[in-house]
Amino acid sequence: MRDQLVKRPQAEFKFEVQTAARSVCAGVCCFSSRVILSPCIKEELHTMNKENTASLLPVMSGKRAHTNSSDGEQQQPAQKKMRRVDAEPPQRFRPAASVVPPRHPVAVKAPVKALRPTGAATVAVAPARGDQRKPVAAVPKAAAGLGVSRRPGWDLKGKVSDMEAKVQNYQSKIKSVNLENDHLKDSITKAQKHKAEIEDENKGLNKRLGDCEEELEKLATVKDDLAQTSTERDGLKKDLSKLNEEHKVLEGLRDHLESELCNIQTQLAIQTSTLRQCQDSLKESQEMVRNLEETVAREREELHLGEMERRKLHNTIQELKGNIRVFCRVRPLLTCNQSDVLHIQLPAHDNKALTLAKTEESHTGRTADTQKSYNFSFDRVFGPHATQREVFEEISLLVQSALDGYNVCCFAYGQTGSGKTFTMEGGDLENLWGVIPRAVQQIFKSAKALQEQGWQYAFTASFVEIYNETLRDLLYTGKPNKRPEHEIRKVANNEITVTNLTYQKVNNEDEVHNLIMLANQNRSTARTGINDHSSRSHSVFQLDIEGQNSDRDTKCKSVLCLVDLAGSERVQKSQSQGERFKEMTAINSSLTNLGIVIAALASKESFIPYRNSKLTYLLQNCLGGNSKTLMFVNIAPEEESFSESLNSLRFASKVSDLMRSHQCIYFMKVS
Ligand code: ADP
Ligand code: MG
Repeated sequence: MRDQLVKRPQAEFKFEVQTAARSVCAGVCCFSSRVILSPCIKEELHTMNKENTASLLPVMSGKRAHTNSSDGEQQQPAQKKMRRVDAEPPQRFRPAASVVPPRHPVAVKAPVKALRPTGAATVAVAPARGDQRKPVAAVPKAAAGLGVSRRPGWDLKGKVSDMEAKVQNYQSKIKSVNLENDHLKDSITKAQKHKAEIEDENKGLNKRLGDCEEELEKLATVKDDLAQTSTERDGLKKDLSKLNEEHKVLEGLRDHLESELCNIQTQLAIQTSTLRQCQDSLKESQEMVRNLEETVAREREELHLGEMERRKLHNTIQELKGNIRVFCRVRPLLTCNQSDVLHIQLPAHDNKALTLAKTEESHTGRTADTQKSYNFSFDRVFGPHATQREVFEEISLLVQSALDGYNVCCFAYGQTGSGKTFTMEGGDLENLWGVIPRAVQQIFKSAKALQEQGWQYAFTASFVEIYNETLRDLLYTGKPNKRPEHEIRKVANNEITVTNLTYQKVNNEDEVHNLIMLANQNRSTARTGINDHSSRSHSVFQLDIEGQNSDRDTKCKSVLCLVDLAGSERVQKSQSQGERFKEMTAINSSLTNLGIVIAALASKESFIPYRNSKLTYLLQNCLGGNSKTLMFVNIAPEEESFSESLNSLRFASKVSDLMRSHQCIYFMKVS
């Protein structure tokens, strides 16, 4: 039964409890107002009456509960109250009141006073207000003793008997009431017991109800959790579907990659075998390279030794040829209408000889004209048809000596217009290039070739002019009025240097060509009676060469000097006066001193007068010692230049003869 109760809703259960309580109360009320109710039942009844105004129970007051009190005054209010209840009894109460009629019906007299001692129990059977007027006819007068008409005052005996009858009546009533009371007490005890059970049950149910409520709350929380979980589950479902799609894509990708991997592995296998082959061949190649490197090192060593040997032999050849050499070059005729050159004879079979011949008329006219010939012999004679390239071929050996570390000096001597500048510088076209551009070209070319043998070269160019024994920097680019003065100085290692001179580092031939052009712009020229373009000054192009072979710890240092001398014509013929005369004197003086220095060098004199002129002082290192000197003597083919040509040839021949005599001594020493 407990389980059933638990399963039923709380409201339904409460209703049943209330109904049971009402039944108990209804039963209790029917017995007597003298019944002593337990405080809890009274409270329950009171609460139920309060809760439900439509209750079927009569209103019980605390005072009525004690109607069995002997105090007559205490009964009165209860009676009054009962009268009020009787006055307007609820319709539904009447049948309830009739349910338990008094066991010993008493003929109630109409007057209320007579009813007073009977209490509320008689009230229950009272008729409705409308019926109160009518006497209760059901009770016989004799039995009740009340229906007897009043005895006269003197009938005391009758009165006593009436009273005794009344007392007996009351006693019997009391007995029945007491019985009834006992019965009711039992009922109350049972009811109380039942109530206690119900209360216990109620408590249990309430407790159960609390548990249920707690459980309900928990369930509500669980419900919320469930809803949240459901939402999360939906989200997770979506994620899962997405992941499934991605998984499919990834699977496709994986398949693709697996196939690619398969291909790559196949290729890798091929490549690995190829690599193995390559490694094998690499090992072989490395072995070969090692062998080749050893060979190269050996050959480089041999090459270096060969190079050093070549330099030595080359120098020996150059020395055998002569450290001072003289070449003669005859300029071609410049105009077409001139007759053939008859006074200069160049033997076809000998490129070292030259004959200058002239027919001298008899001063008196009596004797026949005499033919005068002057034979000259030089290291080489170039005729009017010799090209620039042919001329340079002879000089290129000396240029090679300059790279090998020997000082080389090449200068052109001759009268103005004889072709000195043409020989040294030449024309703009490459086939007309003179000695200077060709020498520069060869030097840079050879220097590059020598790089493979570990040689590194550095070049420094300078261009100086000696005019009236004064030095001018031809590479000067500053303001003309701020030209510095220059002095020739001998520094450490007997090197010659010029103060304030431009020493320009050059790395290629183009840079040198630019410097030559700049020098030509700066070069002072003066108009003379013989040649408008003749130079009245010496110009000295100097290229300092520094070579270093870091592999062998070898160094070389040399100077290549290329000199275009001023015109060697004599003063009288040039018809120069004043400044021009001074110029000519200075020029002739320096050229004469050059001849003296060369002669002194050739004859190995102890004192060489270098300092007598600026030219020889500047060329000091290029003229002595191991240096190679080449002199070009340029002669003009015109007949009117015969005398000057003769002078030039005589000067050059003197140098050449001195060298030959020295050469013989040297040759004898070598052999
Ligand atoms: P210098 O410098 O001795 O005064 P140049 O070199 O100026 O003489 O020559 C004078 C002229 O003769 C120039 O016009 C030059 O071009 C020309 N000339 C000189 N030598 C030759 C030559 N070998 N071939 C052709 N022309 C030449
Ligand atoms: Mg010249």
